[in-house]
Order: sequence, then C-alpha cells, then structure tokens
Amino acid sequence: MKIIRTPRSMTVWSEGLRREGVTIGFVPTMGALHDGHRSLIRAARLQCDALVVSIFVNPTQFAPTEDLTKYPRPIAKDHALCREEGVDVCFEPTAQAMYPEGFQTTVTVPALARRWEGAARPHHFAGVATVVTKLFSMVQPQLALFGQKDYQQAALVRQLVNDLNLGGAILVRPTVRERDGLALSSRNVYLSPDERRIAPLLFQSLQAGRQTIEGGKSDVAAIERIMRQTIEQEPTIHVEYLAVCDPDSLEPLPVVAARAVLLGAIRLGPVRLIDNLVVKMPGGKSGLRVDREVKVLTD
Ligand code: AMP
Repeated sequence: MKIIRTPRSMTVWSEGLRREGVTIGFVPTMGALHDGHRSLIRAARLQCDALVVSIFVNPTQFAPTEDLTKYPRPIAKDHALCREEGVDVCFEPTAQAMYPEGFQTTVTVPALARRWEGAARPHHFAGVATVVTKLFSMVQPQLALFGQKDYQQAALVRQLVNDLNLGGAILVRPTVRERDGLALSSRNVYLSPDERRIAPLLFQSLQAGRQTIEGGKSDVAAIERIMRQTIEQEPTIHVEYLAVCDPDSLEPLPVVAARAVLLGAIRLGPVRLIDNLVVKMPGGKSGLRVDREVKVLTD
C-alpha cells in the first residue's frame, strides 16, 4: 500500500492510472476507521481497479468550539485496516498542503446545508463541500462511496458532484451498527459507560417513528411526539432535533407521503450523536438509493 502525502503526487498518480483506463474508487474519511468505513472500502474494492482512501481531519468543517484537536488519530491501526482491505493508496495530505496561506475559495450548497446539521454547525457543510471538491479534483474517482450514517452530507455531496460536474458516481452505503443499534462512529469512543448504555435510544426513537409511519400514521406532529417520548425516558439526553423530512430536499414534511427520512441528533454529555432511518412505503423509492437495509454487525 502506498501512502501519498501531497496533492500534487495524488494528482500525478491518478492521472497516470486514468490514462491507462484504470477505474479509481475513492472513500474519503477522517480516519479512526471502524467497520462503517470498512463496509465502504469493501464495496469500493469490489467495483474498482484501484482504490484510494483519504485520511484527513479537515479543519474547516470543525467550529472553534468542536473537537478538532482531540479527534482520534490512530494512524497505525488505520493503515492496518486499509492493508487488510486491499487499499492501494492512503492519501494523507497535511492541512497546510490543503489550505496553504492565501487560500480563499469556499464551495457552498445552500439549500441542503440550511437545516439540521447545517443549523447546528454553521460552517460545517461549507468545509465539507470545499474539501470534497478539492479531494475529487486530486483523486479523480469514477466512483466515490459515502455512508448513510451522514445522510445530509451524502445528499449534499451528490448535489455538489452533479452541480459542478465533478465526474464520478456516488454510492451511498447503509449505516453499520453495533448489536444494540448504535450507529458506529469515530466519536463513540468519547462516550462514558453510562452514556454508551443509553446511546442506542436515538436509534430506538427513529425505529419507533418508522413503525408508526408503517402502521399507517401520516401526521408528522404525532410521529415526532412518539419519537421524542421514546428518547425522553432518559432525562440526561438532550434532543437537538428529531424530524420527518423529504428524503431529497431534507425539508420537513407536513404529512408523510410515500417516502421520508427520519433525522435525529442528540447530545449526551460532551458527545453529539446523529442517526437517520429511511422510511419507504410500499411503492415508494428511497431518496438516496441506499444499497441495502440497516445491517447489524456480529462481534
Ligand atoms: P468520517 O470518517 O466520519 O468522515 O466518515 C467517512 C465516511 O464513512 C462517511 O461517508 C461516513 O458517512 C461513513 N460512515 C461513518 N460511520 C458510518 C457507519 N456507521 N456506517 C456506514 N458508513 C459510515
């Protein structure tokens, strides 16, 4: 496995392969890799000749009050996982190389970034959109994989890639979960044992919402009330939002029609957790064309 550290070398490597007709798959990450990342890497490995994983903790998507400096960076473990999964290149640019002095361009996707994570973290999606644009121009993938876990991010990237003709198909893979339903996240390591025990309530509340819709209720206020009641059994959890939305625009739905995405974010002590579930009524199609349904990991 090759480790590439500069944007220039990344571009040279990709251009060389593309000239030879090799298809390049790409999985952008911030490292601290877990089985959620592994599922993206595996799916990419099956579909492309060459596979690039980027490991870059992108400073522009963190607010000054967030966890940039203490974000976990277990680079040796990350390399081991990438080797196990047959990754060809780990692309690990420095922040200085990505944002040299004088850097000033920002990419925004205003409508998709306005609500939910965008409202809670005002500069987050401009940071994401800008770094994805830069990474795509360096790696030039034919296929890039993202996780449903970050539903709004995946929707925004799909829009961005279409709008700016960045090339390459976007594939969204289902959320990988612990046995108790908690979505895997690099930030789960921050949870205390007590917080870890109650963290699956977020998934349970989304499931309660989904069951309510599947049971025939379409009144969004009632569905949101049921989701809140499920989670508010636990007073230490602070709900940031629990919403029933259109799976494409992410705008709140007045009533549920054929399809919806349930989005949730909670704060548990110092940790913010997000999750989502797509609800597809018979005959409806899901917004992000996620591959398969929620998969529960075995130990
Ligand atoms: P991150 O390293 O958090 O920036 O995530 C890199 C990619 O992995 C993003 O496309 C995430 O949506 C995806 N990802 C993170 N957690 C999971 C998970 N539990 N299941 C599936 N994909 C995930």
